[in-house]
Amino acid sequence: MTTVAAYAAPAAKAPLERTTIERRPVGEHDVLIEIKFAGICHSDIHQAREGWGEAMFPMVPGHEIAGIVTEAGSGVTRFAVGDRVGVGCMVDSCRACENCEAGLEQYCLKGNVGTYNALDKNGEPTYGGYSEKIVVDENFVVRIPDGLALDVAAPLLCAGITTYSPLRHWNAGPGKKVAVLGMGGLGHMGVKIAHALGAEVTVLSQSLRKKDDGLKLGADRYYATSDPKTFEDLRGSFDLILSTVSAPLDLNVFLSLLKTDGAFVNVGAPEEPVSINLFSVIAGRKTLAGSGIGGIRETQEMLDFCAEHGLGAEIELISASEINDAYERVLSSDVRYRFVIDTATI
Ligand code: NAP
Ligand code: ZN
Ligand code: ZN
Repeated sequence: MTTVAAYAAPAAKAPLERTTIERRPVGEHDVLIEIKFAGICHSDIHQAREGWGEAMFPMVPGHEIAGIVTEAGSGVTRFAVGDRVGVGCMVDSCRACENCEAGLEQYCLKGNVGTYNALDKNGEPTYGGYSEKIVVDENFVVRIPDGLALDVAAPLLCAGITTYSPLRHWNAGPGKKVAVLGMGGLGHMGVKIAHALGAEVTVLSQSLRKKDDGLKLGADRYYATSDPKTFEDLRGSFDLILSTVSAPLDLNVFLSLLKTDGAFVNVGAPEEPVSINLFSVIAGRKTLAGSGIGGIRETQEMLDFCAEHGLGAEIELISASEINDAYERVLSSDVRYRFVIDTATI
């Protein structure tokens, strides 16, 4: 076992504080990663505050991990010491069910093992990226291409793949009108990726405060959802709406913005349920769908795509002592557009 410094929430809703945790010895198929940067995802906050239900404490959040391999087990074939690597939201799965076989480990029928707030196959709690080092099976590690700096690459491990996967699945591309709802960590990557895929991109944000940024990141149009005129102007406009909103929404009004056969794809994970009038999907043969992160193979594909198109996250680099303040800013939609922890400060 190796003792490493980390930032943890000792209990639900308690501020995060510096502590130490144990990492398992490097097994045959494991790599030891020196973490350089860890992004702060809104999911970290939902879980650290038990917004999604009972959680495990102490909790070391962080599933947007970028670092360097410093040790490789004897059976490791894909990575070597010195490699630039990333770890996202999961560190294991059953590897045998039909979803795992199809490269959809995130939908493992036995449940994937989360990077934190989960138990691994040996029943030990997992601890995430707000720490100095992590030991991960090489099959759940991806390569960060040389063209991407590690700090702006870290958020791609969740925000990048969570938007890339549905944009690809629902064929965002030339001739398609795509709206990205909410321009935070996921949303801003959704704008960049949808634009790089060739779609016509509209941002639907609560206000026009971030309009200049949205247009710079690749949006063609930018509307405020606080303005009722937005819903009149954009009625029946979109092939695809990707919702990254972290709070409950009135889905009926957003479904009215879809074309016939359009799809509203939700990736936001609000803490409260939402209700829907089913006539909102009956009229216009619309699809209401959801999507969760992406498989390991697709995560690698996304990183290669982002490197090829020069897409990193827009980040605010912070020290570990600023994590609690950053959480408050994320909760008030005051993030531009991802906080990334410099783990050297832990
Ligand atoms: P974030 O940075 O806080 O972005 C969320 C954005 O939603 C905000 O910037 C804001 O955008 C908008 N928003 C927030 N509150 C709102 C409200 N009350 N009404 C309308 N819009 C609101 O969060 P994130 O890290 O991108 O994560 C977004 C959500 O996705 C979270 O719930 C997270 O847990 C979830 N998530 C899901 C997956 C998955 O696999 N499906 C993966 C990662 C994260 P504007 O300021 O532009 O309005
Ligand atoms: Zn996340
Ligand atoms: Zn499985």
